[in-house]
Amino acid sequence: MTERVAQVALPLPLFEPYTYSIPDSIADRVVPGARVVVPVRRRELVGIVVGKGEGGRGEGDDGVTPSAAVTPSVARGPTFAIRDILAAPDAEPALTPPMLRTAEWMAGYYGAPIGIALKAMLPAPMWGESRVILTVKDGRSVGRLGGLAEQVLEWVEGRGGTAPLDTAARHFRKPLWEVADRLARVGAAELLVEPAEADPSTLIERRLEVSGDPLTLVERDAKFARRAKQRRLYETLEQLGGSVPVKHLRDSLGMSDAVIRALTDSGLARVVKTERMRDPFAGEPGTPPPAKLTPEQAEVLESVEGLAPGSGALLFGVTGSGKTLVYLRAVERAVASGRGAIVLVPEIGLTPQMVSRVRGMFGNNVAVLHSGLSDGERADAWRLLRRGERRVAVGARSAVFAPVRDLGLIVVDEEHEQSYKNGEAPRYHAREVARVRAKLEGARFVFGSATPSLETYSLFGAGPTDLPSSRPTALFRLPHRIDDRPMPPVEIVDLRTARRVATGTSVPWSGALDTALNTVLARGEQAILLLNRRGFAAFIQCPECGLVRECPDCSIALTLHRVPPGLRCHYCGKHFPVPAQCSNCGHPVQRAHGIGTQQLEELVAARFPKARLARMDLDTTSARWSHHRILERIEKGQVDILLGTQMIAKGMDFPNVTLVGVVDADTALHLPDFRAGERTYQLLAQVAGRAGRGPKGGRVLVQTRSPEHPALKFAASHDTEGFLAHEAEERKNPPYPPETSLLNVVVSAEQESRTTEEALAVADWLSKLIETQGLPLVLLGPAPCPLTRIKARWRWHVLVKGPVEEIGRVVRYAAPRLEGRGARVVLDRDPVSLL
Ligand code: ADP
Ligand code: ZN
Repeated sequence: MTERVAQVALPLPLFEPYTYSIPDSIADRVVPGARVVVPVRRRELVGIVVGKGEGGRGEGDDGVTPSAAVTPSVARGPTFAIRDILAAPDAEPALTPPMLRTAEWMAGYYGAPIGIALKAMLPAPMWGESRVILTVKDGRSVGRLGGLAEQVLEWVEGRGGTAPLDTAARHFRKPLWEVADRLARVGAAELLVEPAEADPSTLIERRLEVSGDPLTLVERDAKFARRAKQRRLYETLEQLGGSVPVKHLRDSLGMSDAVIRALTDSGLARVVKTERMRDPFAGEPGTPPPAKLTPEQAEVLESVEGLAPGSGALLFGVTGSGKTLVYLRAVERAVASGRGAIVLVPEIGLTPQMVSRVRGMFGNNVAVLHSGLSDGERADAWRLLRRGERRVAVGARSAVFAPVRDLGLIVVDEEHEQSYKNGEAPRYHAREVARVRAKLEGARFVFGSATPSLETYSLFGAGPTDLPSSRPTALFRLPHRIDDRPMPPVEIVDLRTARRVATGTSVPWSGALDTALNTVLARGEQAILLLNRRGFAAFIQCPECGLVRECPDCSIALTLHRVPPGLRCHYCGKHFPVPAQCSNCGHPVQRAHGIGTQQLEELVAARFPKARLARMDLDTTSARWSHHRILERIEKGQVDILLGTQMIAKGMDFPNVTLVGVVDADTALHLPDFRAGERTYQLLAQVAGRAGRGPKGGRVLVQTRSPEHPALKFAASHDTEGFLAHEAEERKNPPYPPETSLLNVVVSAEQESRTTEEALAVADWLSKLIETQGLPLVLLGPAPCPLTRIKARWRWHVLVKGPVEEIGRVVRYAAPRLEGRGARVVLDRDPVSLL
């Protein structure tokens, strides 16, 4: 009987890990960060060792987390008998010490259970309910081992050389952990922890494809006379890039088999069977990088080199200044010096150009981590990186956890993007994790943006200094576009006074925008139109009694959609048929109000019938890789006008785009969130940055009813720093980040009364804590969230403001204790949205 024990985390919401004893035979492998198989009730699960010995893991002693807890932690230790660890399948621990420390930091900082923090870090199928697979490595061992080991090896060989260990155990009617361990150690077999692979039949997919040349509008009217459904299907296909999985058409877009058949019978489309496209980037050679750095780029690169290990910089470069090449060269240098790198992008599907550039430079040395990967592929990519067979990882938020060996550099492109914040526990911000991980690994980091968040900007440059002690200081600038191309002039069109063109729609359409678009089309150039709301109309209302159709589960008006027709909730996704009459008064006509991208598309198609259109929003990009296909068509010059929501504003580099039109700049300006102005500024500056990237130049037209708003005025003069300075002042009183640190405590329940009661109780508990501990914190609320109901749950919140250390103490103390009675209590530290 050994005295030694280990603490093992499982992907469960438990604030304390389980304790197990360590059998001598595997003691050398049971180290922090290693995967182990442990008994949990009557199951066997794969967990991660987070500590050894009786004391448990040390918390907050890394200089990154302030360590003082409000009171000593809750009593630890199991109340049941300690059981043995069954196996330690990996020769090398899955997580390195810095990665484990990163997970611990994340658990402490965001108030998440360690198992939940680790869950975000490791591909889920690699632990928890995974299977251990035994694979024969050296068949010649048969005949040398003797005993049960010999029989097991032979049996596995007989099954083709590989078998799940639990299957073998059932066959031999006894646990085989020791045998498996012995086989692995003598090199006869390998133990792999594997996800249960997806059914191979799901890898074949039926797609509907457009066939023949695109139809002109006149041909359409002729072919589809009295065949509205077929036309809708055909046009949906077109919008989605010409090829869409049949399953998606049927399940998500509500197209019937009969209509699909009718369209194929008419020869306008055909069904093809293809292997499900797993990675549209995989087959591509990638874009080779420009050969030479400009002197400005070279200088920034040298500065990045000069950063002390563990520190980093904000690369503040205007749109089109060539930030990407700086990242690539910095990654190249890291790799040349024998280290690895991570490149984070806001959303992998939205940034194929970035991926293509990284691929172009590093070829097969890159692992692209995207949501289209199957469990098995994800585990493979993970292993390749962990073993050092791939040195560069590219991916969205969670790629910050890529197990890159000897990490030398982390790049966070478009650092201001909200998508870097995780929407569920652990509610981490990848940019902050990048900072902590870089410090722990002795790596450098670079945060890049043309429109930095005020938080990052004030951390690296001017601004308030009431921030963590590990304050980095480097701010590198690329103030000019490549080839000294001018920033495109931005013209503000005041919708209250501007001459309008009658279009027969509700879309505000100024003469200025109309003329500009005509000019661009006549020259054979491309245009982008931004309208940050999808659907056809914002809501429908009864003209008689005034009733607005709302989602029964969310406190929000339903959006009217045309393709496919229906009312949709943009929060929970539910859809409903368009009512023929008012449900309240029975009035037969319902009126649509407000606008969306579908209505804009209708307007543009009618006004510019010869132009080739593409619409890009959540509705046209929900099919796998459809976004990628649309961008491809633009690149090939098959699209004259691209219209869509904010996703068209991101990172695209198309030199032939000479006009950007913002149809309504005010969509997010007046939201009840302290970042509404910042978001609007970023969106305008980013979308404006898509114009004039080539030698032909470009211009930007912004339609608004709030031309005096600072977000618009500063955007019109490309004055990002002016805007940031203004915004920093705004955040002083009442204080908001970065002036103060923020914790949003959201209480939700299905019953309204339960929600308010619990929110009051939580606020009361927090204010007592603040008072008894004498913490310099301010508590606001409880109050209903601006979105008071989402997915049939009522929502109230309490805001806590104050210095980062004290907020941290409250989070660590409250997280394991704040349990709503019949309500859900979420601690959202550094929230990106207060809605
Ligand atoms: P940003 O990300 O800063 O908006 P990009 O990195 O997309 O800008 O660069 C803008 C354009 O300039 C791209 O087409 C890129 O290929 C080109 N470019 C960047 N660096 C150079 C260079 N050193 N020489 C020539 N072209 C370059
Ligand atoms: Zn809803």
